[in-house]
Amino acid sequence: MNKEVKYSIVVPLYNEAANVTQLYVRVTQVMEDLEEPYEIVLVDDGSKDDTPLALRAISASDSRVRIVTLRRNFGQTPALKAGFDAARGEIIISMDGDLQHDPEEIPAFIAKLEEGYDIVSGWRAQRRDGWLSRRLPSRIANWMMGKLSGVALHDFGTTFKAYRRETLKSIHLYGELHRFIPALAAWYGARITEIPINNPPRQNGKSNYGISRTLRVFLDLLSTKFLLDYSTRPLHFFGPIGLLATGSGSLIGCGLIFSKLFGHQATMLQHGPLLFAATVLVLGGIQILCLGLAAEILSRTYYESQGKPIYAVRETRTFDPQATISVHPKLLRIDQGVPVESVPGRERFPGSEKRAIG
Ligand code: UDP
Ligand code: MG
Repeated sequence: MNKEVKYSIVVPLYNEAANVTQLYVRVTQVMEDLEEPYEIVLVDDGSKDDTPLALRAISASDSRVRIVTLRRNFGQTPALKAGFDAARGEIIISMDGDLQHDPEEIPAFIAKLEEGYDIVSGWRAQRRDGWLSRRLPSRIANWMMGKLSGVALHDFGTTFKAYRRETLKSIHLYGELHRFIPALAAWYGARITEIPINNPPRQNGKSNYGISRTLRVFLDLLSTKFLLDYSTRPLHFFGPIGLLATGSGSLIGCGLIFSKLFGHQATMLQHGPLLFAATVLVLGGIQILCLGLAAEILSRTYYESQGKPIYAVRETRTFDPQATISVHPKLLRIDQGVPVESVPGRERFPGSEKRAIG
């Protein structure tokens, strides 16, 4: 059974009774046209309305639907993760259950993925949400995320995305990190691109988020940046700050001792604030250095206890006399199921697609 599912559509649902049936019907129409085995994974994130009833009715009539019911409302990211864990398809497509994502756009995602990308991300080119509460914070967050992660996507925030199964397997999701999947995956060398999508306004029910989400997104941004860049070498982050503080504090201290010994100045009376600054800098600096060292120990425990590699291999290949090479107009592939994208100059790196899209 496992191998037979090609596409998994994963949808987190929280109080979407008014939308879920229509969503199911539209997704089914689109997926049936593709004529490949698929499944729809509907995750009920502890809904308090009639969503569970609607889901039961849907699953009673269609064996291609899998329902995952969480025990309580955990939030969109855990709900998505539960769906990803249950999904069995080679290609996993996640989308919202409030009809703000058009199921009719799924084939475009799949087509793009088949060009050789690992992640295809939706880009709400024309957003309909409120400007101050949603669009402005999202603009800033997207810009910062792009700068910090080096993945030039216009829109990290949307859940409408398609992934190759292996890409998702390597990623752990915490907090509200689902919007950072491309940034995390880029660390693993995933090839990422985006396609413009519609963003129809919500017809039924109400959004679960408002301006309060902004702060959390920025905090997640901070932790993601730190994790991506320094999780294997935290002392490189804390070290320079600690050394700078200790060094400047020591310099000031030496200056004060010098003025005391040779200038015969009353340090306490004449340079009180400076003495204070020197003390704080030296003490603070030492603590930051120690924090860095402690983090180094933590990082070793983290990676070694889980056997986590600090690198990611796309493939390992040796000479194979049986392999026949056939040239596809887009990509060079070696048969025998080995995915190859090794035409010189054809390698796509995270973000390199941005220019093509404009
Ligand atoms: N959602 C969820 N659990 C939550 C909040 C939201 O599963 O705690 C689902 C919700 O049902 C919808 C998707 O996540 O399918 C996006 O939520 P929403 O429309 O509220 O967010 P927005 O589109 O306003 O960003
Ligand atoms: Mg929505």
